[in-house]
Amino acid sequence: MKAPEPFEVLDIRKQFPILSRKVNEKNLIYFDNAATSQKPQCVIDALSDYYSRYNANIHRGIHTLAEEATLAYEASRHAVQEFISAAMVEEIIFTRGTTEGINLVAYSWGRQNIKAGDEILISEMEHHSNIVPWQILCQEKNAILKVIPVLDDGTLSMDDYQRLLNKKTKLVAIVQVSNALGTVNPVKEMISMAHQFGAKVLVDAAQSAVHLDIDVQDLDCDFFAFSGHKLYAPTGVGVLYGKKELLEAMPVFQGGGEMIREVSFELTTYNDLPYKYEAGTPNIADTIALKSALDFIKSIGKEQIRKHENELLDYATRQLEDIPGLKIIGKATEKVSLVSFILKNIHPHDVGVLLDHLGIALRTGHHCTQPLMKRFGIPGTIRASFALYNTKEEIDILVEGIYKSIKMLS
Ligand code: PMP
Repeated sequence: MKAPEPFEVLDIRKQFPILSRKVNEKNLIYFDNAATSQKPQCVIDALSDYYSRYNANIHRGIHTLAEEATLAYEASRHAVQEFISAAMVEEIIFTRGTTEGINLVAYSWGRQNIKAGDEILISEMEHHSNIVPWQILCQEKNAILKVIPVLDDGTLSMDDYQRLLNKKTKLVAIVQVSNALGTVNPVKEMISMAHQFGAKVLVDAAQSAVHLDIDVQDLDCDFFAFSGHKLYAPTGVGVLYGKKELLEAMPVFQGGGEMIREVSFELTTYNDLPYKYEAGTPNIADTIALKSALDFIKSIGKEQIRKHENELLDYATRQLEDIPGLKIIGKATEKVSLVSFILKNIHPHDVGVLLDHLGIALRTGHHCTQPLMKRFGIPGTIRASFALYNTKEEIDILVEGIYKSIKMLS
Protein backbone atom coordinates (compact mmCIF):
# COMPACT_ATOMS: atom_id res chain seq x y z
CA MET A 1 0.00 0.00 0.00
CA LYS A 2 1.21 3.51 -0.85
CA ALA A 3 2.26 5.51 2.23
CA PRO A 4 0.01 8.54 2.81
CA GLU A 5 1.40 11.89 1.69
CA PRO A 6 2.43 14.20 4.53
CA PHE A 7 -0.41 16.51 5.48
CA GLU A 8 0.19 19.92 3.92
CA VAL A 9 -2.56 22.24 5.02
CA LEU A 10 -1.56 24.99 2.58
CA ASP A 11 -1.88 22.59 -0.35
CA ILE A 12 -5.25 21.51 0.93
CA ARG A 13 -6.44 25.10 1.32
CA LYS A 14 -5.65 25.75 -2.35
CA GLN A 15 -8.28 23.17 -3.26
CA PHE A 16 -11.04 25.22 -1.58
CA PRO A 17 -11.63 28.35 -3.71
CA ILE A 18 -13.86 30.03 -1.12
CA LEU A 19 -10.98 30.19 1.37
CA SER A 20 -9.28 32.87 -0.68
CA ARG A 21 -12.18 35.30 -0.41
CA LYS A 22 -12.30 38.33 1.84
CA VAL A 23 -15.08 39.03 4.31
CA ASN A 24 -15.32 42.57 5.65
CA GLU A 25 -11.93 43.19 4.01
CA LYS A 26 -10.33 40.46 6.07
CA ASN A 27 -9.24 36.97 5.03
CA LEU A 28 -12.14 34.60 5.61
CA ILE A 29 -11.63 32.32 8.61
CA TYR A 30 -14.23 29.61 8.38
CA PHE A 31 -14.95 27.99 11.74
CA ASP A 32 -18.58 26.98 11.08
CA ASN A 33 -17.77 23.53 9.75
CA ALA A 34 -20.18 21.70 12.03
CA ALA A 35 -22.99 23.62 10.32
CA THR A 36 -21.68 22.90 6.85
CA SER A 37 -18.23 22.38 5.40
CA GLN A 38 -16.73 24.23 2.44
CA LYS A 39 -16.38 22.38 -0.88
CA PRO A 40 -13.18 21.46 -2.67
CA GLN A 41 -12.73 22.21 -6.37
CA CYS A 42 -13.19 18.52 -7.29
CA VAL A 43 -16.74 18.59 -5.84
CA ILE A 44 -17.56 21.86 -7.62
CA ASP A 45 -16.15 20.38 -10.85
CA ALA A 46 -18.24 17.21 -10.47
CA LEU A 47 -21.41 19.32 -10.38
CA SER A 48 -20.40 21.43 -13.32
CA ASP A 49 -19.24 18.36 -15.28
CA TYR A 50 -22.59 16.64 -14.80
CA TYR A 51 -24.60 19.65 -15.95
CA SER A 52 -22.22 20.48 -18.82
CA ARG A 53 -21.74 16.98 -20.20
CA TYR A 54 -24.28 14.35 -19.17
CA ASN A 55 -27.33 15.87 -17.47
CA ALA A 56 -30.11 13.29 -17.85
CA ASN A 57 -32.67 11.51 -15.71
CA ILE A 58 -31.46 8.20 -14.33
CA HIS A 59 -32.56 4.55 -14.41
CA ARG A 60 -35.23 4.99 -17.07
CA GLY A 61 -33.54 6.27 -20.19
CA ILE A 62 -31.72 4.08 -22.68
CA HIS A 63 -29.79 6.88 -24.35
CA THR A 64 -26.09 7.49 -23.70
CA LEU A 65 -26.53 10.47 -21.39
CA ALA A 66 -29.02 8.59 -19.21
CA GLU A 67 -26.67 5.63 -18.99
CA GLU A 68 -23.72 7.81 -18.03
CA ALA A 69 -25.76 9.62 -15.38
CA THR A 70 -27.09 6.32 -13.98
CA LEU A 71 -23.62 4.83 -13.80
CA ALA A 72 -22.23 7.87 -11.98
CA TYR A 73 -25.19 7.95 -9.57
CA GLU A 74 -24.83 4.26 -8.73
CA ALA A 75 -21.05 4.59 -8.43
CA SER A 76 -21.74 7.08 -5.65
CA ARG A 77 -23.85 4.46 -3.85
CA HIS A 78 -20.93 2.01 -4.04
CA ALA A 79 -18.56 4.70 -2.71
CA VAL A 80 -20.88 5.26 0.26
CA GLN A 81 -21.08 1.51 0.89
CA GLU A 82 -17.28 1.42 1.11
CA PHE A 83 -17.10 4.63 3.16
CA ILE A 84 -19.28 3.17 5.95
CA SER A 85 -18.36 -0.51 5.38
CA ALA A 86 -21.92 -1.65 4.73
CA ALA A 87 -22.36 -5.29 3.79
CA MET A 88 -24.58 -4.61 0.77
CA VAL A 89 -25.10 -1.73 -1.63
CA GLU A 90 -28.90 -2.22 -1.32
CA GLU A 91 -28.61 -0.97 2.25
CA ILE A 92 -27.65 2.53 1.08
CA ILE A 93 -30.64 4.84 0.58
CA PHE A 94 -30.03 8.34 -0.74
CA THR A 95 -31.92 11.07 1.12
CA ARG A 96 -31.82 14.86 1.37
CA GLY A 97 -29.80 14.61 4.55
CA THR A 98 -29.74 13.34 8.13
CA THR A 99 -33.10 14.91 8.94
CA GLU A 100 -34.85 13.12 6.10
CA GLY A 101 -33.16 9.82 6.98
CA ILE A 102 -34.39 10.00 10.58
CA ASN A 103 -37.89 10.98 9.46
CA LEU A 104 -37.95 8.10 7.00
CA VAL A 105 -37.27 5.65 9.84
CA ALA A 106 -39.78 7.34 12.15
CA TYR A 107 -42.56 7.28 9.55
CA SER A 108 -41.89 3.90 8.04
CA TRP A 109 -40.31 1.64 10.69
CA GLY A 110 -41.85 3.66 13.52
CA ARG A 111 -45.44 3.47 12.35
CA GLN A 112 -45.14 -0.26 11.77
CA ASN A 113 -43.33 -1.18 14.97
CA ILE A 114 -44.21 1.28 17.75
CA LYS A 115 -47.33 0.62 19.83
CA ALA A 116 -48.99 2.30 22.82
CA GLY A 117 -46.78 2.03 25.92
CA ASP A 118 -43.57 1.33 23.97
CA GLU A 119 -40.56 3.40 24.86
CA ILE A 120 -38.17 5.32 22.60
CA LEU A 121 -34.92 6.36 24.18
CA ILE A 122 -32.97 9.43 23.05
CA SER A 123 -30.43 11.60 24.88
CA GLU A 124 -30.40 15.09 26.30
CA MET A 125 -27.74 16.13 23.74
CA GLU A 126 -29.79 15.31 20.62
CA HIS A 127 -30.18 17.73 17.74
CA HIS A 128 -33.82 18.73 17.17
CA SER A 129 -33.76 16.45 14.09
CA ASN A 130 -33.36 13.47 16.39
CA ILE A 131 -36.00 14.64 18.90
CA VAL A 132 -38.98 15.98 16.99
CA PRO A 133 -39.64 12.99 14.65
CA TRP A 134 -39.75 10.69 17.72
CA GLN A 135 -41.99 13.11 19.62
CA ILE A 136 -44.45 13.16 16.71
CA LEU A 137 -44.39 9.35 16.57
CA CYS A 138 -44.85 8.99 20.34
CA GLN A 139 -47.80 11.41 20.32
CA GLU A 140 -49.44 9.52 17.48
CA LYS A 141 -48.91 6.08 19.01
CA ASN A 142 -49.22 6.91 22.69
CA ALA A 143 -45.67 5.75 23.15
CA ILE A 144 -43.22 7.20 25.67
CA LEU A 145 -40.12 9.27 24.91
CA LYS A 146 -37.38 8.80 27.51
CA VAL A 147 -34.18 10.81 27.78
CA ILE A 148 -30.66 9.81 28.84
CA PRO A 149 -29.22 12.69 30.91
CA VAL A 150 -25.98 14.51 30.09
CA LEU A 151 -23.36 14.95 32.85
CA ASP A 152 -21.60 18.24 33.62
CA ASP A 153 -18.57 17.34 31.47
CA GLY A 154 -20.80 16.82 28.42
CA THR A 155 -20.77 13.03 28.41
CA LEU A 156 -23.80 10.78 28.70
CA SER A 157 -24.73 9.23 32.01
CA MET A 158 -24.14 5.60 31.11
CA ASP A 159 -25.54 4.48 34.50
CA ASP A 160 -28.81 6.19 33.63
CA TYR A 161 -28.71 4.66 30.17
CA GLN A 162 -28.41 1.18 31.68
CA ARG A 163 -31.23 1.99 34.12
CA LEU A 164 -33.54 3.36 31.40
CA LEU A 165 -33.18 0.36 29.09
CA ASN A 166 -35.88 -2.24 29.58
CA LYS A 167 -38.14 -4.67 27.69
CA LYS A 168 -40.42 -1.81 26.63
CA THR A 169 -37.55 0.02 24.91
CA LYS A 170 -38.14 -0.48 21.19
CA LEU A 171 -35.70 2.05 19.80
CA VAL A 172 -32.63 3.95 20.92
CA ALA A 173 -31.93 7.00 18.71
CA ILE A 174 -28.56 8.41 19.60
CA VAL A 175 -26.13 10.96 18.24
CA GLN A 176 -22.61 9.62 17.67
CA VAL A 177 -20.96 13.05 17.98
CA SER A 178 -22.69 16.02 19.58
CA ASN A 179 -22.85 19.10 17.35
CA ALA A 180 -23.03 21.39 20.38
CA LEU A 181 -20.41 19.78 22.67
CA GLY A 182 -18.17 17.75 20.39
CA THR A 183 -18.59 14.70 22.63
CA VAL A 184 -18.03 11.32 20.97
CA ASN A 185 -20.54 8.91 22.45
CA PRO A 186 -19.66 5.23 23.00
CA VAL A 187 -22.25 4.11 20.44
CA LYS A 188 -20.83 0.62 19.88
CA GLU A 189 -21.24 -0.21 23.55
CA MET A 190 -24.66 1.50 23.63
CA ILE A 191 -25.85 -0.50 20.63
CA SER A 192 -24.80 -3.77 22.21
CA MET A 193 -26.58 -2.81 25.47
CA ALA A 194 -29.77 -1.90 23.56
CA HIS A 195 -29.72 -5.14 21.58
CA GLN A 196 -29.72 -7.13 24.82
CA PHE A 197 -33.25 -5.77 25.35
CA GLY A 198 -34.26 -6.38 21.73
CA ALA A 199 -34.32 -2.64 20.93
CA LYS A 200 -33.23 -1.32 17.55
CA VAL A 201 -30.69 1.50 17.35
CA LEU A 202 -30.55 4.49 15.02
CA VAL A 203 -27.28 6.44 14.96
CA ASP A 204 -27.37 10.13 14.05
CA ALA A 205 -24.01 10.42 12.31
CA ALA A 206 -24.43 13.98 10.99
CA GLN A 207 -21.29 15.11 12.83
CA SER A 208 -19.36 11.86 13.10
CA ALA A 209 -19.20 10.61 9.50
CA VAL A 210 -16.61 13.24 8.53
CA HIS A 211 -14.34 12.73 11.55
CA LEU A 212 -14.51 9.08 12.62
CA ASP A 213 -13.80 5.82 10.82
CA ILE A 214 -17.18 4.29 10.20
CA ASP A 215 -17.94 0.57 10.07
CA VAL A 216 -21.68 0.00 10.38
CA GLN A 217 -21.20 -3.76 10.53
CA ASP A 218 -18.78 -3.49 13.42
CA LEU A 219 -21.08 -1.02 15.20
CA ASP A 220 -23.98 -3.38 14.47
CA CYS A 221 -26.34 -0.36 14.29
CA ASP A 222 -29.74 -0.91 12.71
CA PHE A 223 -29.96 2.52 11.07
CA PHE A 224 -27.29 5.15 10.43
CA ALA A 225 -28.03 8.58 8.97
CA PHE A 226 -25.73 11.34 7.76
CA SER A 227 -25.58 14.41 5.49
CA GLY A 228 -23.25 15.02 2.57
CA HIS A 229 -22.83 18.73 3.16
CA LYS A 230 -20.93 18.26 6.42
CA LEU A 231 -18.31 16.13 4.67
CA TYR A 232 -17.29 18.42 1.81
CA ALA A 233 -20.15 17.33 -0.49
CA PRO A 234 -23.02 19.57 -1.64
CA THR A 235 -26.18 20.25 0.32
CA GLY A 236 -29.31 18.30 -0.51
CA VAL A 237 -27.85 14.81 -0.44
CA GLY A 238 -27.55 12.44 2.47
CA VAL A 239 -27.56 8.77 3.30
CA LEU A 240 -29.70 6.43 5.31
CA TYR A 241 -28.11 3.05 5.95
CA GLY A 242 -30.40 0.32 7.26
CA LYS A 243 -29.92 -3.39 7.77
CA LYS A 244 -31.37 -5.14 4.74
CA GLU A 245 -33.88 -7.29 6.63
CA LEU A 246 -35.29 -4.19 8.34
CA LEU A 247 -35.48 -2.12 5.14
CA GLU A 248 -37.18 -5.02 3.38
CA ALA A 249 -39.81 -5.46 6.10
CA MET A 250 -40.61 -1.75 6.45
CA PRO A 251 -43.51 -0.14 4.58
CA VAL A 252 -42.73 2.37 1.83
CA PHE A 253 -42.16 6.02 2.80
CA GLN A 254 -43.14 8.19 -0.18
CA GLY A 255 -45.10 6.98 -3.21
CA GLY A 256 -44.26 7.95 -6.78
CA GLY A 257 -42.11 7.07 -9.74
CA GLU A 258 -39.05 4.84 -9.33
CA MET A 259 -40.20 3.23 -6.07
CA ILE A 260 -42.74 1.01 -7.90
CA ARG A 261 -42.49 -2.24 -9.84
CA GLU A 262 -45.96 -2.15 -11.37
CA VAL A 263 -48.89 0.21 -10.97
CA SER A 264 -52.55 -0.39 -11.68
CA PHE A 265 -55.59 1.30 -10.16
CA GLU A 266 -56.31 -1.92 -8.28
CA LEU A 267 -52.86 -2.73 -6.97
CA THR A 268 -49.32 -1.35 -6.94
CA THR A 269 -46.25 -3.43 -6.25
CA TYR A 270 -43.02 -1.91 -5.04
CA ASN A 271 -39.47 -1.85 -6.29
CA ASP A 272 -36.54 -3.67 -4.68
CA LEU A 273 -34.11 -2.05 -2.31
CA PRO A 274 -32.79 0.61 -2.35
CA TYR A 275 -35.19 2.12 -4.94
CA LYS A 276 -38.22 1.28 -2.79
CA TYR A 277 -37.31 4.34 -0.66
CA GLU A 278 -36.25 6.68 -3.46
CA ALA A 279 -39.49 8.00 -4.95
CA GLY A 280 -39.28 10.55 -7.75
CA THR A 281 -36.30 12.02 -9.57
CA PRO A 282 -33.51 12.18 -7.02
CA ASN A 283 -30.87 14.84 -6.50
CA ILE A 284 -28.66 13.41 -9.25
CA ALA A 285 -25.92 16.05 -9.49
CA ASP A 286 -25.31 16.39 -5.77
CA THR A 287 -25.34 12.63 -5.26
CA ILE A 288 -22.72 12.22 -7.99
CA ALA A 289 -20.62 14.96 -6.38
CA LEU A 290 -20.88 13.14 -3.03
CA LYS A 291 -18.57 10.49 -4.47
CA SER A 292 -16.01 13.18 -5.34
CA ALA A 293 -16.12 14.36 -1.72
CA LEU A 294 -15.62 10.81 -0.42
CA ASP A 295 -12.75 10.28 -2.88
CA PHE A 296 -11.22 13.56 -1.68
CA ILE A 297 -11.37 12.44 1.98
CA LYS A 298 -9.96 9.05 1.04
CA SER A 299 -7.09 10.56 -0.92
CA ILE A 300 -5.90 12.41 2.20
CA GLY A 301 -6.86 9.71 4.69
CA LYS A 302 -9.17 10.10 7.67
CA GLU A 303 -6.35 9.33 10.09
CA GLN A 304 -4.23 12.16 8.72
CA ILE A 305 -7.20 14.52 8.82
CA ARG A 306 -8.02 13.52 12.38
CA LYS A 307 -4.44 14.06 13.50
CA HIS A 308 -4.47 17.61 12.10
CA GLU A 309 -7.93 18.39 13.49
CA ASN A 310 -7.03 17.03 16.94
CA GLU A 311 -3.96 19.27 17.01
CA LEU A 312 -6.24 22.22 16.24
CA LEU A 313 -8.64 21.13 18.98
CA ASP A 314 -5.87 20.85 21.58
CA TYR A 315 -4.33 24.16 20.52
CA ALA A 316 -7.67 26.01 20.58
CA THR A 317 -8.73 24.47 23.90
CA ARG A 318 -5.48 25.50 25.60
CA GLN A 319 -5.67 29.07 24.27
CA LEU A 320 -9.34 29.56 25.02
CA GLU A 321 -9.08 28.16 28.53
CA ASP A 322 -6.59 30.91 29.37
CA ILE A 323 -9.09 33.68 28.56
CA PRO A 324 -10.54 35.12 31.79
CA GLY A 325 -14.32 34.69 32.01
CA LEU A 326 -14.43 32.06 29.25
CA LYS A 327 -16.00 28.70 30.03
CA ILE A 328 -15.87 25.73 27.71
CA ILE A 329 -19.11 23.74 27.57
CA GLY A 330 -18.34 20.10 26.82
CA LYS A 331 -15.09 18.76 28.21
CA ALA A 332 -15.33 15.08 27.37
CA THR A 333 -12.01 13.31 26.84
CA GLU A 334 -13.36 11.86 23.58
CA LYS A 335 -14.15 14.88 21.43
CA VAL A 336 -14.01 15.92 17.80
CA SER A 337 -12.51 19.23 16.66
CA LEU A 338 -15.16 21.55 18.02
CA VAL A 339 -15.12 23.96 20.96
CA SER A 340 -18.29 25.42 22.43
CA PHE A 341 -17.92 28.19 25.00
CA ILE A 342 -19.58 31.07 26.80
CA LEU A 343 -18.22 34.40 28.03
CA LYS A 344 -19.22 35.81 31.40
CA ASN A 345 -21.92 38.48 31.11
CA ILE A 346 -21.69 38.62 27.29
CA HIS A 347 -24.36 37.30 24.93
CA PRO A 348 -22.98 34.81 22.34
CA HIS A 349 -24.65 36.67 19.43
CA ASP A 350 -22.83 39.93 20.26
CA VAL A 351 -19.50 38.12 20.04
CA GLY A 352 -20.55 36.47 16.78
CA VAL A 353 -21.29 39.86 15.19
CA LEU A 354 -17.95 41.36 16.26
CA LEU A 355 -16.02 38.31 15.05
CA ASP A 356 -17.79 38.54 11.68
CA HIS A 357 -16.31 42.03 11.32
CA LEU A 358 -12.92 40.32 11.58
CA GLY A 359 -13.83 37.86 8.83
CA ILE A 360 -14.38 35.00 11.27
CA ALA A 361 -17.41 32.82 10.58
CA LEU A 362 -18.54 30.77 13.55
CA ARG A 363 -21.84 29.76 15.04
CA THR A 364 -23.58 31.31 18.02
CA GLY A 365 -26.86 30.21 19.52
CA HIS A 366 -28.54 26.99 20.63
CA HIS A 367 -27.26 24.88 17.70
CA CYS A 368 -30.69 23.19 17.35
CA THR A 369 -30.17 21.64 20.78
CA GLN A 370 -32.49 23.73 22.94
CA PRO A 371 -33.03 21.01 25.61
CA LEU A 372 -29.25 20.69 25.99
CA MET A 373 -28.85 24.45 26.42
CA LYS A 374 -31.61 24.34 29.05
CA ARG A 375 -29.75 21.56 30.85
CA PHE A 376 -26.66 23.79 31.09
CA GLY A 377 -28.81 26.83 32.01
CA ILE A 378 -27.55 28.96 29.10
CA PRO A 379 -29.23 30.58 26.08
CA GLY A 380 -26.56 29.32 23.72
CA THR A 381 -22.84 29.05 23.12
CA ILE A 382 -20.20 30.35 20.73
CA ARG A 383 -19.02 27.37 18.69
CA ALA A 384 -15.81 27.14 16.70
CA SER A 385 -15.68 23.92 14.68
CA PHE A 386 -12.55 23.03 12.73
CA ALA A 387 -12.00 21.22 9.46
CA LEU A 388 -8.97 19.89 7.66
CA TYR A 389 -8.23 23.26 6.02
CA ASN A 390 -8.05 25.28 9.24
CA THR A 391 -4.78 26.43 10.81
CA LYS A 392 -3.32 27.41 14.16
CA GLU A 393 -2.75 30.93 12.80
CA GLU A 394 -6.51 31.22 12.29
CA ILE A 395 -7.06 30.13 15.88
CA ASP A 396 -4.65 32.86 17.04
CA ILE A 397 -6.77 35.44 15.18
CA LEU A 398 -9.91 34.04 16.82
CA VAL A 399 -8.36 34.31 20.27
CA GLU A 400 -7.30 37.91 19.57
CA GLY A 401 -10.83 38.62 18.36
CA ILE A 402 -12.30 37.23 21.56
CA TYR A 403 -10.05 39.45 23.68
CA LYS A 404 -11.18 42.43 21.57
CA SER A 405 -14.83 41.43 21.97
CA ILE A 406 -14.50 41.18 25.74
CA LYS A 407 -12.96 44.64 25.86
CA MET A 408 -15.73 46.14 23.73
CA LEU A 409 -18.68 44.34 25.26
CA SER A 410 -17.97 44.27 28.98
N1 PMP B 1 -27.98 15.83 13.77
C1 PMP B 1 -26.90 16.54 14.11
C2 PMP B 1 -26.07 16.11 15.26
C3 PMP B 1 -26.55 17.68 13.37
O1 PMP B 1 -25.47 18.38 13.71
C4 PMP B 1 -27.35 18.04 12.27
C5 PMP B 1 -27.01 19.28 11.46
N2 PMP B 1 -26.69 20.40 12.21
C6 PMP B 1 -28.46 17.26 11.97
C7 PMP B 1 -28.75 16.17 12.74
C8 PMP B 1 -29.35 17.58 10.82
O2 PMP B 1 -28.64 17.50 9.63
P1 PMP B 1 -29.28 18.08 8.26
O3 PMP B 1 -29.74 19.48 8.58
O4 PMP B 1 -28.16 18.04 7.31
O5 PMP B 1 -30.40 17.18 7.90
